[in-house]
Amino acid sequence: MNHNTQVGIIGAGPAGLTLALLLQKAGISSIILENKSREYVESRVRAGLLEHNTVSLFDSLRVSERLHKEGLIHLGCFISHNGKSQRIDFAKLTQKEVTIYGQQEVVKDLISACYERNIGIIFEADATQITDLETEKPIIYFTKNNENHSLECDFVGGCDGFHGLSRKTLPKESYQEYKIEYPFSWLGILAYAKPNYEELIYAYHSEGFALASMRSEKVCRLYLQVNNDDKIENLSDEQIWDELENRLGFALNRGEIFEKGITPMRSFMIDNMQFGRLFLAGDSAHIVPPTGAKGLNLAVADINNLANGIIHFYQNNDEELLKNYTQKCLARVWRVQDFSNFMTYLCHKQSEEGTFENQLQKSKFDYLTISEAYQKTIAENYVGLPYETFA
Ligand SMILES: Cc1cc2nc3c(=O)[nH]c(=O)nc-3n(C[C@H](O)[C@H](O)[C@H](O)COP(=O)(O)OP(=O)(O)OC[C@H]3O[C@@H](n4cnc5c(N)ncnc54)[C@H](O)[C@@H]3O)c2cc1C
Repeated sequence: MNHNTQVGIIGAGPAGLTLALLLQKAGISSIILENKSREYVESRVRAGLLEHNTVSLFDSLRVSERLHKEGLIHLGCFISHNGKSQRIDFAKLTQKEVTIYGQQEVVKDLISACYERNIGIIFEADATQITDLETEKPIIYFTKNNENHSLECDFVGGCDGFHGLSRKTLPKESYQEYKIEYPFSWLGILAYAKPNYEELIYAYHSEGFALASMRSEKVCRLYLQVNNDDKIENLSDEQIWDELENRLGFALNRGEIFEKGITPMRSFMIDNMQFGRLFLAGDSAHIVPPTGAKGLNLAVADINNLANGIIHFYQNNDEELLKNYTQKCLARVWRVQDFSNFMTYLCHKQSEEGTFENQLQKSKFDYLTISEAYQKTIAENYVGLPYETFA
């Protein structure tokens, strides 16, 4: 069956859904193809920290009512090194804040807004090929219920995540790839337990990194640095709690662990996010280690640029903003890559105590405790540099 729309979007993650809503607000039609079911994408546990930029954009889309009701506002966070702790005061240093609200809740809110606004989302539709990219009518081929379909459009939003089709469709010679595979992973748990800490705590410990975070007033989100070859089944829930308490340095409220998994840490990006009428956004073009809490926020920042470019095209018949799309995104992508890498090296154990590298790491932490300028550098990156910064 043949379908058509103005903008064909692959992927119903935060990037694809936000793009569809921004376009709809400007009177531009789109169809989203998503290869998983609605239930699956609405329950996929991932990020949980929203920059003020992301919240403001959701406000402008009128999709943030529940976020403001249920989200937790954080005015700072703690960074500690072997038990010595420094608070980074976002409110004082940047006059901004961050909001804790799970990605699956964001996705639920965005999907329900899409339905209310008659934006077509085709779930369990697997995009298999994108063609005619260098013409004004690219085509996305997809399968649903074992039947072949095509979607003809003016532009393709490649919002299909790290393993998607869009990046594979870019000609290999059109980009350079950059990546770091870190020699450690994050073991993350979600537990029904009231957090007995009020803000996030990033803790370096001689046994490895730990992060105390939360998803709500009743649910804790906690992480431990583990080796890349560690297996989740080799650690009992009791051992996980013990190790978290050991590294964080205080007793935690313990509760039932209802989700746990190990995520590898990587930095990845390509330096071209477009080809013809295909534009990549979010994880399809870049991955950052989660230490800086930036993945979802960076995806939404890309989309802000992409939506502006597409809207400008339809309103002025002018492709200028779209031509500069990659360049506009990359300035922020590199900043976020650097910040995420910096936070990762600041907080994780990489070498034995007392080595040169380890002393440099400790010196960075010591500097943080005496320099408000250094704290401000972290704070302004953490809350998110304003969209206008990268004009
Ligand atoms: C396990 C994990 C944990 C994470 N934890 C954090 C965290 O703690 N903090 C943080 O900031 N970030 C975290 N991230 C990163 C953050 O979740 C991502 O940056 C964010 O999801 C990016 O949004 P996106 O819309 O670009 O991509 P995605 O959310 O990946 O969405 C892409 C969508 O495209 C769909 N798709 C893929 N291929 C096709 C196809 N061929 N046809 C149709 N649909 C397709 C996928 O099913 C998916 O729904 C985590 C990521 C992962 C994987």
